[in-house]
Amino acid sequence: MRVRRGGGRGMRAIVVGAGIGGLAAAVSLRRAGCEVTLVERAPRFTEAGAGIQLAPNATRALRRLGLLDAVAARADRPSHLSFRTWSDGAEICRATLGRAAEEAFGAPYLQVHRADLHRALAAAVPSRSVRLDSAVVRVGQDDEHAHVTTASGERLDADLVVAADGLRSTARRWLFGADEAVYSGTAAYRALLPAAAVADLDLPEYALWLGPGRHVVHYRVRRGELLNVVAVFRAEAARESWTDRAEPGEQVREFDGWDPRVLRVLERAGRMLRHGLHTRAPLARWNSGRVTLLGDSAHAMVPFQAQGAAQALLDAAVLGDALAGATAADVPAALDRYVRRRLATATSVQAGSARAGEDYHLPDGPEARARDARMAAHAAENEFGPHAVAWAADAPEEPPVR
Ligand SMILES: Cc1cc2nc3c(=O)[nH]c(=O)nc-3n(C[C@H](O)[C@H](O)[C@H](O)COP(=O)(O)OP(=O)(O)OC[C@H]3O[C@@H](n4cnc5c(N)ncnc54)[C@H](O)[C@@H]3O)c2cc1C
Repeated sequence: MRVRRGGGRGMRAIVVGAGIGGLAAAVSLRRAGCEVTLVERAPRFTEAGAGIQLAPNATRALRRLGLLDAVAARADRPSHLSFRTWSDGAEICRATLGRAAEEAFGAPYLQVHRADLHRALAAAVPSRSVRLDSAVVRVGQDDEHAHVTTASGERLDADLVVAADGLRSTARRWLFGADEAVYSGTAAYRALLPAAAVADLDLPEYALWLGPGRHVVHYRVRRGELLNVVAVFRAEAARESWTDRAEPGEQVREFDGWDPRVLRVLERAGRMLRHGLHTRAPLARWNSGRVTLLGDSAHAMVPFQAQGAAQALLDAAVLGDALAGATAADVPAALDRYVRRRLATATSVQAGSARAGEDYHLPDGPEARARDARMAAHAAENEFGPHAVAWAADAPEEPPVR
């Protein structure tokens, strides 16, 4: 089937994958005047029952897509992040968030339920543009068109294809060969629990607890109704899955000896989800001709700076900038502009996220003490904390590089 030329400036785009990155790309390309077909393997839109943190670079991108108000309406806005020691809960340092961070970075720090974010993105893409239950099995192109083939054998043609098909991207294999997702050596127990279930524990509103080979993050979502908990640990092997369950009580045994407040949260979380954390090797380029990667397909990273979705949202906003005003003949050059704007930052955030994990997981002793002293000294100079350096990069409001 041919995707018909339509209104706007008549450029036709296929976006593969309706995760955060693909939905945001569809919104951004529509705003740039493209006619978009969004092709998703799953039979319906779904998003994990989990929280997600949206740093100011993510919320700036959402504002650019016209979606910040819709997302912020269901979000929590933490006043600060408290870094704590695993065993006794001593505060290592604080990062200021709230109004001060919003003023400094021009957009708020939000914590939301993934389903709320996904719903806001999906509401901005008309259902006539979405093809569910359509796994893409092949991506190809010639000088004038790009195309995808679905599992049913149907071929869709367009002026460009944006592959936002996640960690195990099919398109990445077609474009750049057979590298695979890489297990990071760490996995995460995850849960969302009613905030009322931990109200007696006097928890910090948003904290990151650091310990040998492990760390725990917790924060509130859905206007304080729910507590999202992520407890990261080392494991020889673990599957990448948003639905696998841990054994009953497994997380409590794994975090034996931790501050009693952390242990109570892990006990009350019940049977937690177990998620092996995977990454992709950085690429020297994401695009070829009329096809480009976006989001995790291009730069999947460990979530230790809470930046994977933020980078996907920035990709989407910048891609729209690059395509605005382009004609079908300009597509390869426009995709070059998009990748030039985004690749260096996303690659450096990927590496920074891996380094953050090494730093968080130092064994007790001189190295951990030196890290704590370093973090406290850094916080005295930089009130927004160690990750804020990523929040200023690649603001989509800037004019695109031409
Ligand atoms: C535990 C954890 C916590 C995290 N916390 C944060 C955080 O706080 N902040 C943050 O910014 N990031 C966070 N991240 C990272 C973030 O979740 C990801 O970077 C982001 O969801 C990637 O979105 P995506 O759209 O690129 O990929 P995905 O969400 O994987 O979406 C890919 C989509 O493509 C579809 N698809 C796949 N193959 C095909 C095909 N062949 N044909 C058609 N469709 C296909 C899939 O069904 C899916 O819908 C976290 C990640 C983890 C694991």
